[in-house]
Amino acid sequence: DKARIGVTGLATMGRNLARNLARHGHPVAVHNRTPSRTKALVEEFGDEGTFLPAESAERFVASLERPRRLVIMVKAGPATDAVIEEFAPLLEPGDMIVDGGNAHFADTRRREADLRERGIHFVGTGISGGEEGALHGPSIMPGGSAESYESLGPLLEDISAHVDGTPCAVHVGPDGAGHFVKMVHNGIEYADMQLIAESYDLLRHAAGLAPDEIAAVFREWNTGRLESYLIEITAEVLAHTDAATGRPFVDVVLDQAEQKGTGRWTVQSALDLGVPVGGIAEAVFARSVSGHAALREAARGLPGPARAGAETLPGVPDAIEKALYASKIVAYAQGFHEIQAGSAEYGWNIDAGAMATIWRGGCIIRARFLDRIRAAYEADPQTPTLLTDAHFAEALGDAQEAWRNVIAIAAKHGVPVPGFSAALAYYDSLRAPRLPAALTQGQRDFFGAHTYRRADREGTFHTLWGGDRTEVTA
Ligand code: NDP
Repeated sequence: DKARIGVTGLATMGRNLARNLARHGHPVAVHNRTPSRTKALVEEFGDEGTFLPAESAERFVASLERPRRLVIMVKAGPATDAVIEEFAPLLEPGDMIVDGGNAHFADTRRREADLRERGIHFVGTGISGGEEGALHGPSIMPGGSAESYESLGPLLEDISAHVDGTPCAVHVGPDGAGHFVKMVHNGIEYADMQLIAESYDLLRHAAGLAPDEIAAVFREWNTGRLESYLIEITAEVLAHTDAATGRPFVDVVLDQAEQKGTGRWTVQSALDLGVPVGGIAEAVFARSVSGHAALREAARGLPGPARAGAETLPGVPDAIEKALYASKIVAYAQGFHEIQAGSAEYGWNIDAGAMATIWRGGCIIRARFLDRIRAAYEADPQTPTLLTDAHFAEALGDAQEAWRNVIAIAAKHGVPVPGFSAALAYYDSLRAPRLPAALTQGQRDFFGAHTYRRADREGTFHTLWGGDRTEVTA
């Protein structure tokens, strides 16, 4: 008998994805460069379903029913190209290669174009949810041709997370659309985590709460509109005590955040697309700042206010909740703007509301909040920004005093809040009747004759700054 689908690359993700498929009754062929992993998988979990182990690429391909569905779960980058080159010559027209790794969408576009020429469908797919998600139901964001989704979609939907009976998997769009959306998902995740971190920092150093008290605040928040996986695990981490020292776990961890690159990609591609994603960018930079140990050491003695420490500021937790919710709305609005800009640039025709729908389960940013975003796109699929959705606009209005006070308190106590500040600055920039960009244009015209447009009439103009300062049509 043949396997319905095959997985090659059986490290953390691939092995759990293969088990997920098998547990759902899909016979799955399994293969890994180093055969010991394949053997170990079948030995440990062989009773969970039908596994067809193969040591060679040829045997692996031969064990797949046609059209063949071959999932690659290997280290992103050159390894993916190497594995594609190993398998593509063994496939026939109509077969599919699915890359579930964290590939850059530009690589996916290149690979898709190349394989399309060879008659093979290439499906770059985002898979979110880490190790646990891969096993119990991830959020799946496949790109590639609509034809490939017809054959692959039912399988992916079957093994994905489900929320209210709806699978957290949908065809995102052609070629690199899936990996692009996964990238932005991760950028949003960075922003969400940074905003939560800033909230913690303020609760600790402006409201004077201890880690276990802050855990209780997050637990409370998790019963309201902020309910989400990230808030839930934040409470868990803050309540955890280090066994070796008896101190709060958060106090013994080195305060240098690491990153694997998808947040950076989100910002790089936003720059290319000309989309302002300050909230996401500040989250990436905040991790970067934290990692510059020598720089931080050199600057530690610089003057500034002492942190409040044990001083308790009443009402601050509630204000922070509002600031967090408002800033979170902004960060998601920026991420969705990037998705819409990418979709327009590459002709993907991405349904933004569908992305919110498949992020409700399985992935790291899963949250009640995403239902709101789905509803916002349902109400107005063409909305230029989520900020103006009735629900979000009301929440932003309600947060005004708190949001601004929290940032003021942070500044007063020397607690850095780049995420909150960037979010508010974006919000105020969008709502401003006039921006100082007019002055910037004047400067550019002065030093570089870059010309400007006028608010009161059509055309492009230049002022003769070095001469009699008359205005000429450019
Ligand atoms: P790793 O990224 O650690 O990759 C290890 C796997 O890649 C092994 O199976 C290894 O084979 C294989 N491999 C590496 N180089 C080659 C090569 N040149 N030829 C053939 N096989 C090769 O595994 P993960 O399971 O952590 O992740 C897999 C993919 O999923 C990555 O792209 C990752 O970015 C992505 N991802 C990971 C998530 C996570 O939480 N870990 C979440 C979402 C996506 P061997 O055993 O022979 O060394």
